[in-house]
Amino acid sequence: MPNIATTLTGARRLHAERTALRYADRHLTYGELDDAVRRFASALLSSGLRPGDRVAVFAKNCPEYVITMYGAFAAGMVIVPVNAKLAGPELAVILEDSETRLLVHDAASAAPVEAAAGPDLATLRIGPAFDRFLAVGDPDQQVADLDEDTVAWLFYTSGTTGRPKGAMLTHRNLTAMMWLELANVCDYRAEDVALHVTPLSHGGGLYLLGAVARGATNLVYSGSSFVPGEVLQLIEREGVTVIAFLAPTMIVMLLDADAESAADTSSLRRAVYGGAPMHLDHARRMVDRFGAVFVQIYGQGESPMTITYLDLAEGPVDDDRLISAGVPHPGVEVAVLDADDRPVAVGGTGEICVRGDTVMRGYLGNPEATAATLRNGWLHTGDVGRFDEHGRLTLLDRSKDVIISGGTNIYPREVEDALLLHPGVRQVVVFGEPDEVWGESVTAAVVREAVADVSADELIEWCRTRIAGFKKPKRVVFVDELPRNAYGKVLRREVRDRLVAGVGQLSSKERLARPAM
Ligand code: AMP
Repeated sequence: MPNIATTLTGARRLHAERTALRYADRHLTYGELDDAVRRFASALLSSGLRPGDRVAVFAKNCPEYVITMYGAFAAGMVIVPVNAKLAGPELAVILEDSETRLLVHDAASAAPVEAAAGPDLATLRIGPAFDRFLAVGDPDQQVADLDEDTVAWLFYTSGTTGRPKGAMLTHRNLTAMMWLELANVCDYRAEDVALHVTPLSHGGGLYLLGAVARGATNLVYSGSSFVPGEVLQLIEREGVTVIAFLAPTMIVMLLDADAESAADTSSLRRAVYGGAPMHLDHARRMVDRFGAVFVQIYGQGESPMTITYLDLAEGPVDDDRLISAGVPHPGVEVAVLDADDRPVAVGGTGEICVRGDTVMRGYLGNPEATAATLRNGWLHTGDVGRFDEHGRLTLLDRSKDVIISGGTNIYPREVEDALLLHPGVRQVVVFGEPDEVWGESVTAAVVREAVADVSADELIEWCRTRIAGFKKPKRVVFVDELPRNAYGKVLRREVRDRLVAGVGQLSSKERLARPAM
């Protein structure tokens, strides 16, 4: 299994004149991208860096991001993509943990970079300095020969809690991920126009690999934040055929903007989503509007983008399928295990565990966390789920989010699904609050639809007929927005901590939200 960068070499051989990357008014062919990548690899090596050294990127999506990624692979170095929304101290933790030697960043991130950079860290700013660096490189630089278990990508966990951990993803992991992406998620072709709207530091960057390997045109969205009306127009104007990856919140935003935009999106043949739960009514609206072009993926940094998939183009789009996370990728073994790592019978609930070539090597410099996560030959995902008799996996929750009330487990997702069926509920997050009698009690933080004036009592009553009485919320709090991390995931624990810390009611004026996506 070769260096993952050879997939770009292969694409160049077949498609040198075709467009590889488009970003605002910039345009690079596969020939130009491959030249830039080789120059970058050569410049890295002549600047004193060695194979195995870490090269971090802290920037919004742009062509240089892609050049840095593939350039580091080609040089046998390790890419450390850092979420561009992090603050200086958060960046500093990752730079230190990863022992980064070079930090590539954009102009917008100059302040956090200055706050985070130590004396031993070289920095390279995207713009004229980056161009000069490239210019000294050799476009004939060879792609490094390496063992496939060499680390290629340090994937820092999104850090909704605790200190971030760097999952070591090898060339083997990325190659296996890419094969399964091309086989089961999107069969990219050179004629495709693939739109990339999510950060390349995360799933968006990982899923670029399949599109590049097949010589597709990669249209990298250049908006500073996700503007759904603009994205819909872009799909029509550019004849986008694939949306490479979307967070569920983005789909909800697209649906909400749809009536006003009236864009023709009939060019779309595939759209990939995942990374967080998608509630049933949203999934239904999504299929009604855009058709069965969607594929959901369930994965995590530790088995990047690849555990199960749900291809809505295959088979009926019934509710049971829509709320599931689909079936395991062939070749990736997925099991639901109990606390002693014994398999749970079909229909039973347990921790989702994974084996296969996509599973990380471990967490960099953190043998305790590695041993806790890679136990008995399995990656322990920390997600709770169950298989049904059709082999489909349904995710319930992160194990840490399970509410234990009166000794009974309550999965917040089930309560959220029931509440979301109410027409007055736009978004909801459910969590446990300490309760003297029950241990924990169920609380829901709800964002109402703009025109709805539904009351807490009405919502509790609504749940009574839809879920078991012990699961219905004891308390409903109305908020304007829900806080999300930089990848659009609702920060359930942050909502809970603030409510439980005595904020009591999150006032409607109080904006909890960090910037969305
Ligand atoms: P990260 O490692 O930051 O990508 O986060 C991975 C976590 O996101 C998983 O362990 C799940 O808890 C959640 N997740 C990923 N994909 C899905 C999905 N399709 N549905 C529900 N949750 C998901």
